[in-house]
Amino acid sequence: MKVPQFQPSLGEREYAAIKDCFDQNWITEGPKAKEFMGKLLTLTGAKYGVFAPNGTLALYLGLKAIDIGPGDEVIVPDFTFYATASSVAMTGATPIFADVNKENFQIDVSKCKELITPRTKAIMPVDIYGMSANMDEVVSFAKEHGLKIVEDAAQALGVKYKGVHAGTRGEIGCFSFFADKTITTGEGGMIVTNDSKLYDKLLYLRNQGRIDRGSFIHPQIGYNFRMTDIQLAIGIVQLERLPEIVSKKKAIYDRYIGHLRNIDALRFIKVEEGTDPYIPFRVAIIDRSGRAQKLMEHMKKNEIETRTFFYPMHLQPAFKHMNWDDSKFEGSNYGYNNGICLPSFVDLKEEQVDYVCDVIKKFYS
Ligand SMILES: *Cc1c(COP(=O)(O)O)cnc(C)c1O
Repeated sequence: MKVPQFQPSLGEREYAAIKDCFDQNWITEGPKAKEFMGKLLTLTGAKYGVFAPNGTLALYLGLKAIDIGPGDEVIVPDFTFYATASSVAMTGATPIFADVNKENFQIDVSKCKELITPRTKAIMPVDIYGMSANMDEVVSFAKEHGLKIVEDAAQALGVKYKGVHAGTRGEIGCFSFFADKTITTGEGGMIVTNDSKLYDKLLYLRNQGRIDRGSFIHPQIGYNFRMTDIQLAIGIVQLERLPEIVSKKKAIYDRYIGHLRNIDALRFIKVEEGTDPYIPFRVAIIDRSGRAQKLMEHMKKNEIETRTFFYPMHLQPAFKHMNWDDSKFEGSNYGYNNGICLPSFVDLKEEQVDYVCDVIKKFYS
């Protein structure tokens, strides 16, 4: 049996939604964008939102909206997808990496204080693997040091922390609709905020420095960060399917736990307290016996595609020149060396989960 790491879950309904754009003869941002945004604001409870071409550019635009630029420093967890850090670099500012905890690899706020300098302007908590970062700690730390918050909630659409939707506690929250995210538009992203002034800035930044599309007068510097209604039509259907997507992802996660919980060498990453719902972005496990690499090789031989955890930012060739002290990144190094992402996409079949678990059990027996 072959088990890929990931496959998007698309069907007739998404296909019909695309056709509808053709029938209406409207393919740029228009009626579908309006409908999708309305539904996303209802889901997240955010006051305002704009789309971006992808999650990476959503982060960049969010940082620009709070005036991050050359000379500024932004605290970024060392354990995240590269885009969290590269979006900071794209503004001309410097990402400063903070270690994460070993339980669930969320930013360790207790280690952030020593990173503060007069140039520190913002902090970017990342909601890793479909659970919230400890936002209570992040928010009080940010308040104490006068920092703005840009929350990278790319993996956390639908996720709530103590009843509040991911991405809505700070100034800016960013989401991704890439193919492997909870819901997808192929490529796509969104920025939310509760601040009307930031919303205004986002509108200018994403729409060629103006509010009205038909005008050739551009009061501000701005760019084109729009999506297409073809993409957004897919998003509407995907969002309608969110309850189904969440329940299927949970069922897969529970099935893995049922099979693997008695293997002493393995543990599942701990769900951050207060996260409800937790929507497993990946089923992420830790091998405690130092054999993660061997296990992944064994699984590959059995045609199961796994992924390592994220490669720490301080080790990235792109950021290495900044001479990070490797001993300060125990958490992210631990995650990279011992973490494994199991196949866990929506349409994964029960037989496939059972097969993956059999292969894992054989490895440890
Ligand atoms: C996917 C992802 C991004 C980037 O989103 P794209 O839409 O792929 O550009 C940023 N941060 C995190 C944590 C992600 O998982």
